[in-house]
Amino acid sequence: MIPLFKQFPGLQGKLPHVSMGLFPTPVLKLEKLGEKLGLGRLYLKHDGLSGEKYGGNKVRKLEFLLGEAQKDRCREVMTYGFAGSNHATATAVFARKLGMRSISMLMPQPNAHIVGKNLLMSFASGAELHLYPSHSFLGLGTICESVRHFLKTGKFPMVIVPGGSSPLGCCGFVNAAFELKEQVYEGLLPEPDLIYCALGTAGTAAGLVLGLKAAGMKTRVQGVQVTEEAYSGEKVFIDLLKKTNRLLHSMDPAFPVLDITPQDFDIRREFFGEAYGLFTEEGINAIKALKENEGIKLEGTYTGKTFAAVMADAPLKESCDKVILFWDTYNAVDYAPVIDKIDYHDLPKQFHRYFEEEYQELDRH
Ligand SMILES: *Cc1c(COP(=O)(O)O)cnc(C)c1O
Repeated sequence: MIPLFKQFPGLQGKLPHVSMGLFPTPVLKLEKLGEKLGLGRLYLKHDGLSGEKYGGNKVRKLEFLLGEAQKDRCREVMTYGFAGSNHATATAVFARKLGMRSISMLMPQPNAHIVGKNLLMSFASGAELHLYPSHSFLGLGTICESVRHFLKTGKFPMVIVPGGSSPLGCCGFVNAAFELKEQVYEGLLPEPDLIYCALGTAGTAAGLVLGLKAAGMKTRVQGVQVTEEAYSGEKVFIDLLKKTNRLLHSMDPAFPVLDITPQDFDIRREFFGEAYGLFTEEGINAIKALKENEGIKLEGTYTGKTFAAVMADAPLKESCDKVILFWDTYNAVDYAPVIDKIDYHDLPKQFHRYFEEEYQELDRH
């Protein structure tokens, strides 16, 4: 039984959920890098290993979201992201696992290795791929594709919001907080003072803040913004957190209604750089540090920027004696064997540019 249901048995059978990932994810102590940074108690929560074929933080959300799709007997789900979206790829992989098909509604982003790789993985998982130049086209595209799929199958595809960050998806990270609490109880790590995680569409950080509080933990979340305010601003964050809280309370009144305000967590804007998906120097340095000292791979859009925050805070006097947990949200499963055989020319033509144009400057190595 998942940790959240153990704690609140009233949720089981009410809150849709399907087990698909590999949980609990491991906790690692970063001895070598911690020593270099002057952090004696630096840990990593390895959500990269959350799935057999494809991991990362989206698996936690999809266990709830696709649980609902399965309950509603959906054959198709439709979701959104930028071209290289890990979320769209994870949705394609796990929808297929349940016998469903994913329709990815994507928008352009700066080019990087990961973009083409994720597109190929989505394609290999049977996803239908669409690229729209702007939000307005995406809106029109949604109407057209929904109708087209309705005419074909007799049912509208179930919509999964960008990043899977609906209140239901967010429950994945409420559960993650209870999973962490069990690991603390088992002695795998001391109770963290701080958790650093990326703040993309806010589901990860909001779910953790809510879950940690509900679990009675003292841990404070540092959400490192990696998207524009519209996706990850304070208002979006609090709104999602409160809606998730109301959902859980309505399903099981034993789940408390918590009073959480912006004073209960920190949103860190300084590591965003110029735009979503554009790598930063600090991010690249953070990626190198983790690779060289611990053999763990990050990427430049989310986790590099987040670990840059850990490194920037390390010299501060308050940091050195704290228990710090970096939540690694990036897929760590090598899927090269799955995509090796695929020719990008088989993808819709709009996507070819990600295989033909140069990568952004900080991703040319
Ligand atoms: C989606 C994603 C995030 C951001 O998570 P949100 O819940 O959207 O804030 C962080 N890291 C990686 C690697 C992601 O794919």
